[in-house]
Amino acid sequence: MTKCPNYTKCPFLKRYEQSLEKSVSLKTKIMAYCDGDSQGDCVRKKIAAKLGGPEHVPVNMMPDGKAVVGTGMTDWTTEVQNLVGTFK
Ligand code: SF4
Repeated sequence: MTKCPNYTKCPFLKRYEQSLEKSVSLKTKIMAYCDGDSQGDCVRKKIAAKLGGPEHVPVNMMPDGKAVVGTGMTDWTTEVQNLVGTFK
């Protein structure tokens, strides 16, 4: 499986890739989505396409559209929160 086309510019991956050893959950998601067969289902990717690029998606949104454990959605714009609801 090839890596996601957003792999080198995805803020989520840049931020959390280095913390893989700290979170099995994040590691599992990155393997399934960014490196794996579920990348077509990535909510981040779908929202990035709508908003014009991966940089417009909140960094703490996981590929399944949920906030990383220990963080929240309060900083996400209403537009982003609405889009998440349509793609989850
Ligand atoms: S989180 Fe989504 S958009 Fe980012 S690299 Fe992984 S599959 Fe691609």
